[in-house]
Amino acid sequence: MPELPEVETFKRYLDSTSLHQRITNVDVRDAYVLKRVSARELVRRLKGRRFENSHRHGKHLFVRAGNKLWLRLHFGMTGSLEYLKHDEVAPKTARVIFRFADRRRLAFDDQRKFGEIELIEDVDEFLQTRGLGPDALEISLSQFKAIVGKHRGAVKAILLNQQLIAGIGNLYADEILFRVRMHPATEAVRLSDKDLTGLFRAMRYVLEKAIALKTDFNRLPKSWLLTHRGKGGRCPRCRRALKSAKIGGRSAWFCPHCQKRASRS
Ligand SMILES: [Zn+2]
Repeated sequence: MPELPEVETFKRYLDSTSLHQRITNVDVRDAYVLKRVSARELVRRLKGRRFENSHRHGKHLFVRAGNKLWLRLHFGMTGSLEYLKHDEVAPKTARVIFRFADRRRLAFDDQRKFGEIELIEDVDEFLQTRGLGPDALEISLSQFKAIVGKHRGAVKAILLNQQLIAGIGNLYADEILFRVRMHPATEAVRLSDKDLTGLFRAMRYVLEKAIALKTDFNRLPKSWLLTHRGKGGRCPRCRRALKSAKIGGRSAWFCPHCQKRASRS
């Protein structure tokens, strides 16, 4: 499921391929992805315009196409972008294809169909209406401490809560907690100032490193939990068996030996 690093990678890909080209048409192959806009209206509003720039917040990507006109993309479970030269065939699971004047295309590909495409007028207004928290890479250390340290519940559930901090999903939350050797069920209110600083640094490190590697799973360090996570997986630190548990409604994977539950404060 695309999380902040994947969506940032899509943003950079879109910025480097699809800006400033006149949009000549939009093929909607599967209208299910369209939210609060019909296929006809999407085509009518975008035809003749250009994608001018983009902005990411959490797992949402916003692409400006004019005054008070933004395309909002959310990648759901399996969404991605693919830029196609004129003779390249679009993937079978491409749901919406933006056509440009130079005959190239940008496909919104989404096998599992949980993605979302919408037209909105104002990004800030959208973020406010959704009640989304600050972006995980924009948040300052003091903001982070105020949000995580004062919130009741398991630290993992707090990291996953998009209303508190936007962008972190199940996989990267586990990775961040593994890096800082914290059990995912640790009560956030029991974390010391030092714990919170460590958690913040681990969050930034994991997200930035994943972006730098373009979230290519095969290039992620073998010392990361992500490459071992799952049934039969062993801790890359101590080689003991990894465990899973439902925390915050999602399956957490962790090392019960390296990640202690008790607060160290
Ligand atoms: Zn371990």
